[in-house]
Amino acid sequence: MNAVNQAGWRPEMGQANAATRATSSGDRALMLEEALIFELGQPGTCGVDFGETDLPPLDSLAPFLRRDPLDLPGLSEPEAVRHYTRLSRQNYAIDLGPFPLGSCTMKHNPRLNEKVARMAGFADLHPLQPVSTVQGALGAINQLAHWLIELTGMHGVAMSPKAGAHGELCGLLCIKAALEARGEARTTILVPESAHGTNPATAAFAGFAVESIPATCEGRVDLAALTAKLGPHVAGVMITNPNTCGLFERDMKAISDAVHAAGGYVYCDGANFNAVVGKVRPGDLGIDAMHINLHKTFSTPHGGGGPGSGPVVLSAALSPFGPLPFTVREADGSVRLVEEEQAAHEHPQGFGRMAAFHGQMGMFTRALAYILSHGADGLQQVAEDAVLNANYVLCSLDDVLDAPFGASGPCMHEALFSDTGLAEGFSTLDIAKGLIDEGFHPMTVYFPLVVHGAMLVEPTETESKAGLDRFIASLRSLAERARAGDEALKSAPHFAPRRRLDETMAARKPVLVWQG
Ligand SMILES: *Cc1c(COP(=O)(O)O)cnc(C)c1O
Repeated sequence: MNAVNQAGWRPEMGQANAATRATSSGDRALMLEEALIFELGQPGTCGVDFGETDLPPLDSLAPFLRRDPLDLPGLSEPEAVRHYTRLSRQNYAIDLGPFPLGSCTMKHNPRLNEKVARMAGFADLHPLQPVSTVQGALGAINQLAHWLIELTGMHGVAMSPKAGAHGELCGLLCIKAALEARGEARTTILVPESAHGTNPATAAFAGFAVESIPATCEGRVDLAALTAKLGPHVAGVMITNPNTCGLFERDMKAISDAVHAAGGYVYCDGANFNAVVGKVRPGDLGIDAMHINLHKTFSTPHGGGGPGSGPVVLSAALSPFGPLPFTVREADGSVRLVEEEQAAHEHPQGFGRMAAFHGQMGMFTRALAYILSHGADGLQQVAEDAVLNANYVLCSLDDVLDAPFGASGPCMHEALFSDTGLAEGFSTLDIAKGLIDEGFHPMTVYFPLVVHGAMLVEPTETESKAGLDRFIASLRSLAERARAGDEALKSAPHFAPRRRLDETMAARKPVLVWQG
């Protein structure tokens, strides 16, 4: 794979003589064909020996016994370990190469974070341990909360939401509780056309109607169109800033002022905070609630590598309604965690809980390690380098790929391209599949929806210039092939364990039961 990668793709590679490819096993060097686990091993084989039990005799349990044997694969321990290890080698990971998925912020996960998260005092906690024995962990949560409040210029933070979308729900439930406290039943949330799918989904899940706000030809929220939609039925807006077109919403303060004047609240989708951390404080832009994806901005592993974590920072207006446990800033600037026991007199309007216990402790410790190891100046540089890298990608490719908002000024941390200019019959999908042959994970495709055949590339700050140059060279070669109508590209990938799959069928009719 590497040799192919470095030499670049040549058409004759797809037509190698079958005889030179054949091996008696069917495998090719380290490219191993892997059967389903149900096709491996023998029924009855087991990787562990069970001792005698002191349970009651089986026949006394007859009504509860399974009638048909459980259809489990029978593998010894080494067979099971090898099966999963072989499968894992067919996967792609941020530890193997760039992962340019726009919107997802797949940056390197520093190993220092992992070391801190594995410290016994954090890793071996039990959520039901006596509170007196977890003071250090609570202190760490508090310290992270302090940083999040400081970096965003907000008043309080709910640490417990478990991912971005969960944070969105938390923010909207705060807005709902605040409206109820005012005795108002506003029904509608306004969401821009370019929003991440989770925004309208969350608004609908929280019981609101969703109305869409059009974008300007620049790719930003149309302030006049938004203002025209405001009224006594509007509970608030959900705006992503920087937005999913990779642009900063310059009118954010004017948007917030207009929404507040109409009695609504401003939710900001903060998933793209990586582009502005240390540079812009959402609190200064009039935002009332914003989730922060610790697994994006603060480098905790995600996408198969770990769970998310989506703390929600809240303005002074919404803080009283935040869920428990809740962290607030005191008059003297210190930050304090309010727990269930103090809630009745200190946080009586909180809407409830988002999760059992305190949230994703392992992600808190990783994010705190990341923040402390970077420091305030280092975090600022994260944003600057992320933006620089994305603009380098945008400028390096805008002669071969259409950049629909290239005229809107520099992008933030994502470079957005469209399929305009590709030869008849060639699509964004062909370029994405071609990237697999080139040894890269594809970029985000067909999102945002406002751009035809969108390709959203987010390099992040952790790619070196040399790494970016290799990626750019591959993407350039694919763009040139798609513009020139190179038919071979239409059947890429040629060198991956599988060719093109029927992704629609796989999503709509997944086969989840073994039918052997
Ligand atoms: C990732 C993302 C979300 C959702 O976050 P999850 O942690 O995946 O739930 C929402 N909005 C935007 C813009 C995102 O990039």
